[in-house]
Amino acid sequence: MTKFVFVTGGVVSSLGKGIASASLAALLESRGLKVTLIKLDPYLNVDPGTMSPFQHGEVYVTDDGAETDLDLGHYERFIEARMKKANNFTTGQIYKSVLEKERRGDYLGKTVQVIPHVTNEIQDFVKRGAGIGTRDAVDVAIVEIGGTVGDIESLPFLEAVRQLSLRMGPNMAAFVHLTYLPWLGAAGELKTKPTQHTVQKLREIGIQPDALLCRADRRIPDEEREKISLFTNVAAWGVISMPDVDTIYKVPRLLHEQGLDGLICDKLRLNTPPAKLARWDNLVQAVGNPQGEVNIAMVGKYVELSDSYKSVNEALRHAGLKNHVQVNISYIDSETLSSSNISQLDAYDGILVPGGFGQRGVEGKISTAQFAREGKVPYLGICLGMQVATIEFARHVAGLADANSTEFEPDTKTPVIALIDEWKDADGTIQKRSANSDLGGTMRLGAQTSDVRKDTIAHAIYGDVVTERHRHRYEANVNYLDQLRDAGLVISALTQREQLTEVVELPTNVHPWYVGVQFHPEFKSTPWDGHPLFNAFIKASLTQRAAKSAS
Ligand code: GLN
Repeated sequence: MTKFVFVTGGVVSSLGKGIASASLAALLESRGLKVTLIKLDPYLNVDPGTMSPFQHGEVYVTDDGAETDLDLGHYERFIEARMKKANNFTTGQIYKSVLEKERRGDYLGKTVQVIPHVTNEIQDFVKRGAGIGTRDAVDVAIVEIGGTVGDIESLPFLEAVRQLSLRMGPNMAAFVHLTYLPWLGAAGELKTKPTQHTVQKLREIGIQPDALLCRADRRIPDEEREKISLFTNVAAWGVISMPDVDTIYKVPRLLHEQGLDGLICDKLRLNTPPAKLARWDNLVQAVGNPQGEVNIAMVGKYVELSDSYKSVNEALRHAGLKNHVQVNISYIDSETLSSSNISQLDAYDGILVPGGFGQRGVEGKISTAQFAREGKVPYLGICLGMQVATIEFARHVAGLADANSTEFEPDTKTPVIALIDEWKDADGTIQKRSANSDLGGTMRLGAQTSDVRKDTIAHAIYGDVVTERHRHRYEANVNYLDQLRDAGLVISALTQREQLTEVVELPTNVHPWYVGVQFHPEFKSTPWDGHPLFNAFIKASLTQRAAKSAS
């Protein structure tokens, strides 16, 4: 029987609800429970795929090709369960589904309303996310409700989960609320009033939280905890202090030591062995004790908001853990780079060009790829980073001086990167897709498998096959591959189905470590083992660093 924990947030956004939810999930998983996480987003976009990374941070992609909130990345990095399309939905998706039913006449002439039609739909989506009625049904589904309590837009979600917990009966659902206690320097006090008000707001809706996770820049003294308990009707042991910590991996233990997982299991009548936290303790130990450092330049367009590259950042740090070093990431705006100032990249041990869209800043990325190739600096190009490396190689090595991608120059005479249906003389076996005007849904998304060529860097990392996740429209044009190969580019992986280029690299006798991948390996990196491609990139960067300091 699947039980639920609903996680809400109050006072302000950005309290770390995703990390808190993922940490609770990790604790429950370590107690032997089958757990999943579901994220509800209260905006009207059907998914975050069409949203600017500046607005929303990274779009996280699941194996089944869903474009989701970046919190799903935290979930997959914190727990064993894998996320699917059903683990994240938005108000937009709910309304889309309700309106489609209305058009089909499914509501039999009734007036379609927020309550009950929208709220029922939300409950159905939540149950689907929990796998109820399928073989995938979990013991506990932790449902994180986006937004802040008191917002108009998240009301239907709160109403829906209140109804769901009522319908399921006692001990089937628990409510956890994240709140914020500001420190007033002048008064020398942590203030509890906003917390009192946000819980009042919840209780008005009919939700009595079982636990409050009190975020603050410091620990909450017992006196304030008692006061909060009294005013919010949450038992004193449910008022949990969640101060800022220097690494997110400390959060599971922080919550466990204050009894959060015990409290939830009591409430849900779950009898389990105690939580096992050894792996988290080891991780915290490793994070706190690096044996050295490495400097990586990340050259991209969305550098103002580092959340835009959340999973890449995490993957680099994981690879640092694997190599026992701290990874210092410098974000460099590719728009500021040109051949006249590119030598500033000399200061770094490795260069990474992450994914991106659109023409702006792309020439700076091409110069970056050229700098890394000629300067023999380890280079990892991800998605767009592979495409710019291919363009750069075509222009400066293969003699295709005006090579470009049709994304940046639609009429280019030398489209080494293009949409499949822009490939002239494309081999008939390639399935053509068209880029229609519906921006959502025209991309190659999700996991796909490729064969890897022997005796390549990719083969040393992945073995004979690689399965990674994708999110892109443009592809290396098959009609130029022979020319690129003849000039010395190694095409080291091609998709099994359509023979699309997945990995390009330079031979190791030409360059120590130069790899571009069309997929997004960062989505599958975890703090436990890192990701083999990132591990290898960091390792190569460390070798570069050692060589530099020796010379
Ligand atoms: N803009 C490129 C494409 O659509 C690369 C996408 C990406 O880096 N995710 O193919």
